Amino acid sequence: MSGKVYIVGAGPGAADLLTLRAAKLLRAAQVVLHDDLVPQEILDICPAAAQVINVGKRCGQRGRSQEQINALMVWHAREIQSQTIVRLKSGDPAVFGRLGEELDALRRAGVEYEIVPGVTAASAAAAAARITLTDRRAASALVVVTGHNSRNESLSKTVEPARSTYALYMPGPDYSQTVQGLLDSGQELATPCAVVSNAGRANEEVRYLTLGELASAKGIPAPAVMIVGEVAAEHPARRHEDLLSEISSETRDPYHHDRLPIYPAPL
Ligand code: SAH
Repeated sequence: MSGKVYIVGAGPGAADLLTLRAAKLLRAAQVVLHDDLVPQEILDICPAAAQVINVGKRCGQRGRSQEQINALMVWHAREIQSQTIVRLKSGDPAVFGRLGEELDALRRAGVEYEIVPGVTAASAAAAAARITLTDRRAASALVVVTGHNSRNESLSKTVEPARSTYALYMPGPDYSQTVQGLLDSGQELATPCAVVSNAGRANEEVRYLTLGELASAKGIPAPAVMIVGEVAAEHPARRHEDLLSEISSETRDPYHHDRLPIYPAPL
């Protein structure tokens, strides 16, 4: 039986800012593939018998390429059939963590996976600085931005509405008004969004819509948060068939081949 890959957020680096769910998975892991920023204190939670592999960039060598990391996850799940594989990333795995490429590789290979969120650096930094990111008297938006994007674009270009993700808190109850505000700020009716109610709870509900569709949507339970932008078009249900058609039946051992393994082929 193939194993399952858990993509887990390790938080900002203090073991006691790790979630209980993350700690439970680390205790059960047979394989842990972790980034450099994850401290030893957290790795010490893994069982002595677990294979703990630093796949980061600063481990004294060049580090593994993204393709090799993807291949290692798939290899351990499909070929070695390790049951619990943890891909441990600093902070929250969905924030500047190359999660998109890793999810594509897992979906393409048909490997089961789950994402476990973590405390992102911005939250930890705000706590350290004793500030709030969204003091309502001073700020009504938090756009998460990188100083180094994959296209080498200047900061002013990266905050273009069409190339930005907005995490929109308190979007209801009048979604048509919220949509209008987004349209006024440069988004379009066709812009995809994910509306997540009760995120992380047992009664979690996710709706994938365009802003046009959302304007007339009814019955969205609160509390909800909206993720607006192209990233919300990348959800598995919509992309599953495309990726399935690319699944390669060939499998190569990423540890013992000079050439990169066949999966994942670049998209
Ligand atoms: N997924 C991570 C971010 C990975 S990108 C998260 O959600 O936090 C790596 C960058 O995150 C670093 O260059 C730094 O800017 C920031 N970062 C990660 N951990 C941090 C920490 N403990 N304190 C300050 N910045 C941190």
